[in-house]
Amino acid sequence: MSIRYLARASVRGFLAASLALLLGNSAAHAAFVTIDEPGLDAVFSQKSFGNKPIDVVIRPTRELNAPHLLEIDDQYDLNEVYSFSTASKPAIGMLFVDSITYCDGYGHTIIGCGWIGDSGTIVESVFSASSKGTSLQAHEIGHTLGLTHTERGLMEPYNHGSLELTRWEARKIHLSDLVQKDSDGHFIEVSPYVVTAVPIPASGLLLLGGVVALVAGSRLRRTT
Ligand SMILES: [Zn+2]
Repeated sequence: MSIRYLARASVRGFLAASLALLLGNSAAHAAFVTIDEPGLDAVFSQKSFGNKPIDVVIRPTRELNAPHLLEIDDQYDLNEVYSFSTASKPAIGMLFVDSITYCDGYGHTIIGCGWIGDSGTIVESVFSASSKGTSLQAHEIGHTLGLTHTERGLMEPYNHGSLELTRWEARKIHLSDLVQKDSDGHFIEVSPYVVTAVPIPASGLLLLGGVVALVAGSRLRRTT
């Protein structure tokens, strides 16, 4: 299975799904953001990065009122996420959703999705808030920085909570154009997007408008 994934992943721009072996997440809820910034910092400045650690900078969360994106379940959803994720370059877009059942193919154990060598990621809110949330997010960020799946460590296709990156992977990450540099050193930016479904139906407002007009109309009739 991992060989198939590696073969797929060798093409730049392909998607890679992250999977969880055990996940009892079926109920729908609103998406929410959980990011452990110090935890992500630790992943991208671990020993294998030597004297070139990478700081992870989290940008303010942006809301996306797009109920259909709460569940990422087809290529149309992915295309939509891709378009605004790439627009935020060199920041890496991270979309928080309820569930993902499609990422370069259907699957009911998918918890994250990332474009290899490009700036978009999608993660499930509930899993992100779990003890393995940081390894999920770091894994998807790893894809955007050009990494493909490995047998073990952070980039294994199934999430076991490992955060390990090899020196080879650290060097590869430093080749990514999403890694920026200023006087303080190297850094990457992550731009979280949270999908919301604000229930303000236009028909409700029209109904309210109609009631007001009716009252105004009856008053008008009474005074004449
Ligand atoms: Zn993956």
